[in-house]
Amino acid sequence: MMKKQVNKWLRVIALALACLMLASCGGKPQDDAPAGILPTAVAEERPDPNVKTSGVGFYFDTVVTVTLWGAPEGLMDQIWAECTRYEQMLSKTIVGSDVSRINAAGGQPVTVHPETWTILYKAKEISALSGGAFSITIAPAASLWSFTGMATNTVPTDAARLAAVALVDDQQIILGDNYTVTLPAGMQIDLGGIAKGYIADRVAELIRGQAYAGIVSLGGNVYTVGQKPNGDPFSVGIADPNNSSQYMAIIYTGDGTVVTSGTYERGFSFGGVRLHHILDPKTGWPAQTDLVSATFVMQSSMEADAMATACIVLGSEKALELANSQELDAMFITKDGTVLFTDGFAEKYKYRTP
Ligand code: ADP
Ligand code: MG
Repeated sequence: MMKKQVNKWLRVIALALACLMLASCGGKPQDDAPAGILPTAVAEERPDPNVKTSGVGFYFDTVVTVTLWGAPEGLMDQIWAECTRYEQMLSKTIVGSDVSRINAAGGQPVTVHPETWTILYKAKEISALSGGAFSITIAPAASLWSFTGMATNTVPTDAARLAAVALVDDQQIILGDNYTVTLPAGMQIDLGGIAKGYIADRVAELIRGQAYAGIVSLGGNVYTVGQKPNGDPFSVGIADPNNSSQYMAIIYTGDGTVVTSGTYERGFSFGGVRLHHILDPKTGWPAQTDLVSATFVMQSSMEADAMATACIVLGSEKALELANSQELDAMFITKDGTVLFTDGFAEKYKYRTP
């Protein structure tokens, strides 16, 4: 009697599990489903690679565009949901975000999302690699400036700037066990130079797993996944710093990211000097090097983002040295319009200058 009842319940549970599995597979390609379980009509539902869908969002103070080929229904919504989640987690200005909690902790450890911890780990690593040219602890200096291009643009006092610079040192960020982060009291972090890269990587991963191909663009971070339905590679234009509606170069990509940091994007002129949003962590002043644009072509948009920001600060000579030493592919544009490439760039990437 007992045994019969147990068997019955086992059957009910097995049936419920089977239903759940079928339900959770809805909308995805089904070619690996065992024959006979699903109607064949579902197996043929793989989206047509030629069907293109586009969307535009606004996150992290930036226009985000997503273009998908052969995407299942729901992927676009899933991408926007992730962007919202990352903004809530990584924005410095959203109360309750991991970054806000770290900045408000007054020297106490804070437990963060594992993804935040990973970004901080990478940021610290690239900060060390670039001799501090990339520093997320730039936040107190960054918040003294406003680069909206409006009348609200400000130049901080020397005293305020120097006080802020004294609080810059990424190596003082303590990344502890169980995803804890401790920042010395007074210091602040700002992930503006790396977070968009991380998010581009995650969106690219979603596209890779579910669609035929796609492109995500978050400000200066572009990630292309796959190829055009006709087999042609995607291409990414590198803006001419003197006229950002024109391209200085076009890079043909496979599955990879092209990330550009430029001094021409956000900033204003002050006494004949270009003041822009990439700061020299040593001075707290907008970096005054010979570079106006730095582009990295690689697999990790997060690393490319941080490296591009660092290279603007370093200037062409050190930037080339750093990129070459790491065997990375980069292209730099100097103030006088000279285009510089890392070793082997021209052989590796098909590019053309219009
Ligand atoms: P964008 O955000 O326009 O793509 P970047 O990737 O170059 O440009 O990042 C610039 C942002 O990073 C700034 O708005 C600021 O928040 C932050 N930042 C500025 N200077 C530095 C620096 N030296 N190291 C790290 N982050 C920086
Ligand atoms: Mg960057």
